[in-house]
Amino acid sequence: MPDVRNCRRCGRMYNYLGGPPICIDCKNADEEVFKKIKAYLYEFPGATLSQVALDCDVSVEKIKMFLREGRLEITDGANIILECEKCGKSIKTGRFCTECQSQLQHDISGTVGKPEKEEKKPGVGMRYLNKNFQ
Ligand SMILES: [Zn+2]
Ligand SMILES: [Zn+2]
Repeated sequence: MPDVRNCRRCGRMYNYLGGPPICIDCKNADEEVFKKIKAYLYEFPGATLSQVALDCDVSVEKIKMFLREGRLEITDGANIILECEKCGKSIKTGRFCTECQSQLQHDISGTVGKPEKEEKKPGVGMRYLNKNFQ
């Protein structure tokens, strides 16, 4: 049985194949935008959110979405633009702060999750997270 779902972005029905819950068209459109941002941040590491939005012709919301999805990360010292969805603390990437993240993991697995050790990153602004992402 195919896993048919509604695209989170455009609402269309599509065959879910894993990864973010969006259809292939939305995914491809996102990839294009993401590639643009990635190339831009490669050239201008530490660019601010508004700089990236302006120079890449991408909406701030879109960039925030990539940040929430963990595909981009704000480096140390940059303007913090995301809040933890649980406690409202300022965070750099994803949806929750490290404390809430480990609390959630704790709630799910029943074991105390150690917060991941943050590596120090140079510069300010955003950088591309070199992760394999579907
Ligand atoms: Zn879609
Ligand atoms: Zn939190």
